[in-house]
Amino acid sequence: MNLKQRNSVMGNYQRLDVSFVKGDRIYLFDDKGRKYLDALSGIAVCGLGHAHPELVKLLVGQAKDLWHTSNLYRIEHQETLAKALTDSARMDSVFFCNSGAEANETAIKLCRKFGFDNRIKNPTIITMKGSFHGRTMATLSATGNEKVHHGFSPLLSGFKHVEFGNTEVLKNHLCNPDVVALMVEPIQGEGGIKIPPLNYLKKLRKLCTDYRKILILDEVQSGIGRTGFLFAHQLDDIVPDVLTLAKGLGNGMPVGACLVNSKYSSILGSGTHGSTFGGNPLVCKVALGVLNIINQKDFLAHVANIGALMLSEFKARLNNIPIVKEIRGRGLMIGIELNRDCGELVKEAMDRGLLINVASGNVVRLLPPLILSEDEGAKIVKEVSSLIESFNGNV
Ligand code: PLP
Repeated sequence: MNLKQRNSVMGNYQRLDVSFVKGDRIYLFDDKGRKYLDALSGIAVCGLGHAHPELVKLLVGQAKDLWHTSNLYRIEHQETLAKALTDSARMDSVFFCNSGAEANETAIKLCRKFGFDNRIKNPTIITMKGSFHGRTMATLSATGNEKVHHGFSPLLSGFKHVEFGNTEVLKNHLCNPDVVALMVEPIQGEGGIKIPPLNYLKKLRKLCTDYRKILILDEVQSGIGRTGFLFAHQLDDIVPDVLTLAKGLGNGMPVGACLVNSKYSSILGSGTHGSTFGGNPLVCKVALGVLNIINQKDFLAHVANIGALMLSEFKARLNNIPIVKEIRGRGLMIGIELNRDCGELVKEAMDRGLLINVASGNVVRLLPPLILSEDEGAKIVKEVSSLIESFNGNV
């Protein structure tokens, strides 16, 4: 790679020294022709893998017709995508944007406007410790992680962070008339694949209904088939008031969405919010293709089955390894928590031709493409287990 070129890019990311030039299904190829098995999917983005032929066809076809007009005009593919999403989520309307942070920013603005409309002076949103909602000022303030806050004071007021997975801690807050909403990830992704106790979301849904609070689910990472459900909250058979999506929705095309149920869908009225690129014809056409593929018969069952298989294979192989604290996952969102920081495993895996990630310092995080085969799943288990076993031997 050209060093000068690399140095001109802002240093806000800690990058590995590899540059990919081609992708094919669950494989990436670097500029030296080396092949890698991608067990991360660009951090839960390329759920349908790289260069999916149907998506390529849709993208190229649309690129020949029309890329962008503006939200000053009606956009047919945006309307079709909004209908597909709201029908699947049993919700009412959608605001389209370009990223997860922007989708959450929309949800936060909606809560503030709801507060204003209802003469609530300090509209407050309860969010969770260990959560991640994005890097804009509002979404980093919502995020329950001091590392993300560090250096960016003053943070936005109007957020309170409580323990994830515990409904008892909410009761006092819910009686506070300033509290307008609760914002939660069904499974904490950046926080290290943290799965709350059974029925947690059901309980949150009931509390929000009883106390008239807005229930916002951030499914930027857990949504779009990742957990074996189109949306992770469907396991709990609930409907949120606001649902945010991004990552897997465009399989790499930048598209985010904030879905709202009918009770709240007129809060962000004309002129209150917007995004120049949000929901342009190109990204919406691809996102529609993504949804069509994920909604095909047996697709989600495949994700659930392969995820369950990988989880049980990991447990069988790693449960007795002393440094392994916990192995957890749902669908193809899998975390292996070690009893010490293990960031160096990312580079070691890469040297073996495998792309993984470490979240929260000590959790090996796997978010492979949803289209992987049983054999490919088994290969990931074998490689990752062997990495952890030798890490255990070396510490
Ligand atoms: N919300 C969750 C749950 C996420 O995992 C992320 C990104 O990792 C975001 C929001 C932010 O999304 P983006 O990076 O697209 O702004």
